[in-house]
Amino acid sequence: MCGRINLRLQVAFVPYQYSQPKSGREVIVQKYTFNPFQTNTFIIHSGSEAVLIDASAHMPEEFDLIESYISENKLTVKALLLTHGHIDHIMGCAHLTETYGMPWMLNPADKPFVDRAQDQARMFGVEFDPRQIKTTPIKEGDSVRFGDVDWSVLETPGHSPGSVSFVDEENEVVISGDVLFNGSIGRTDLLFGSMPVLMQSIYQKLIPLGDQFKVLCGHGPDTIIGHERAMNPFLQG
Ligand SMILES: [Zn+2]
Ligand SMILES: [Zn+2]
Repeated sequence: MCGRINLRLQVAFVPYQYSQPKSGREVIVQKYTFNPFQTNTFIIHSGSEAVLIDASAHMPEEFDLIESYISENKLTVKALLLTHGHIDHIMGCAHLTETYGMPWMLNPADKPFVDRAQDQARMFGVEFDPRQIKTTPIKEGDSVRFGDVDWSVLETPGHSPGSVSFVDEENEVVISGDVLFNGSIGRTDLLFGSMPVLMQSIYQKLIPLGDQFKVLCGHGPDTIIGHERAMNPFLQG
């Protein structure tokens, strides 16, 4: 679920490069905002290899956008990644697993959300693909490699118990899911959420990455750690 953010109506963004000039490597981000919860899905690619982060697509036109981007750019999907198991991030999981022939990488602490997706859907009054979602476990310290990129997995619980962030040390980018937003933080009033645990994740895992780190968020626009440290009203205590 989203945090305290303004809804955005924009659906597709122009691809942009996120790599640092010093690395000399091109890493491209294509970002989409889908579904009634306005949740971001990212296609990130390096060379001919790509990963998808979160499956917020839920309508045929949304799947078309993702699938045609992948095919038009002649990309091979190397991994399907979930930042966490909330319904707005898993709506398109079954469909995209069928398209790309692989399960979604998910921290096991959020598996109960995926296994009970229909209950989540009923609670929020949204339709949901009835097919079982296939997952494979990821944990802190695991690597995700594609193209020239090598990411590490950080466990950043609190918004949900199995929330993870993906860190690209070389390019100074973190994909934070619903942990930290531009001007806000993830909500903690959902099942198994915890404000103290969330704050610990932000202060002990994300902020130490460094002020210059770019943050790609599960909702809303990107940000920079230093900007949030200085301006985010939830981090001024
Ligand atoms: Zn969430
Ligand atoms: Zn969300």
